[in-house]
Amino acid sequence: MEKCREQVREKGMWPRFHRCKRNAVKDGKCLQHHPDTIDAKAEKRLKEWRAKIHGSRIVTAQERIEELRKQIESLMAENAALTSEICRLKAKTGEAINVHI
Ligand SMILES: [Zn+2]
Repeated sequence: MEKCREQVREKGMWPRFHRCKRNAVKDGKCLQHHPDTIDAKAEKRLKEWRAKIHGSRIVTAQERIEELRKQIESLMAENAALTSEICRLKAKTGEAINVHI
């Protein structure tokens, strides 16, 4: 049976290659080295990468939303405190204090 025509890099510090030892199944290549398999793998990796990026963007946006929600709560509390302070001063002085909130 014909062997795969792919050159495979050997492990180690120096680049050395040997011919793939698997049997060729399609177009003179083994299943692992056939372009169809390589494309499918690349596509899978790309999908995973996109999902990861997309996921992290959502997480970042959710964190930002939570941060802004806390900021809004704190500003509303501050606003309420100032409003009651203004009402207290108005009642105390009897003066019309024009503050737009
Ligand atoms: Zn091969």
